[in-house]
Amino acid sequence: MTTAVRAIILLSGGMDSATCLSIARSQQRICHTLAFDYGQRHRQELSAAQQLSQVLGASDHRLITLDTAAFAGSALTDPSIALPTTPSESIPATYVPARNTVFLAMALAYAEVRAAEEIWIGVNAIDYSGYPDCRPEFIDAFARMAALANRTGIAGQPIRIVAPLQHCSKAEIIRQGTRLGIDYSLTISCYQADSQGLACGQCDACRLRHQGFVDATIADNTRYLPSVPVNSLNGMV
Ligand code: ZN
Repeated sequence: MTTAVRAIILLSGGMDSATCLSIARSQQRICHTLAFDYGQRHRQELSAAQQLSQVLGASDHRLITLDTAAFAGSALTDPSIALPTTPSESIPATYVPARNTVFLAMALAYAEVRAAEEIWIGVNAIDYSGYPDCRPEFIDAFARMAALANRTGIAGQPIRIVAPLQHCSKAEIIRQGTRLGIDYSLTISCYQADSQGLACGQCDACRLRHQGFVDATIADNTRYLPSVPVNSLNGMV
């Protein structure tokens, strides 16, 4: 008899990590979800992550609070920095210094504690066009480092880094998640969602997300502010 594989799932409350969790569950993983409070301005993501963890069948959810000072200087953590509303050719203002290195390092420690064999992360093709720590070469390098970093690695059973959406577009992610039954209205992508988690319909994240629904030809059920009729979004993107 084989025992079920345990996995740590990095869960932000956005659609990519929610899809990751659903894929892991569809592959019979026992999932321990992990979210980080790093002073992000879209705080509603954290409650969305907790809810998604339950709804999508994780075993338990852990929130780790990080010292926010380390992540100063990003539009995601500093309200005085303007959020981008158009796609950037270079690293966008929403880049958070070394965020995925820190998140994966914490997940690696947590994986060893929970006797998990895998860490799942929802990085994808859209992300790595702008964020250096979402690129496939970064994920590969982290996996090699992880094999050297802890007890299970030395014992010849390194913790695997699983990034199932790495080469997926937003539309492919939405199609895959919809097949798995995810209610994407529970996920929050907006960089400046209000206190109820309603999306602005204007920031870069809202535009990319809506375009994903349009490209997937799936109705956009995002919870937008009442002032943002979805019909008008079609002309926005
Ligand atoms: Zn938005």
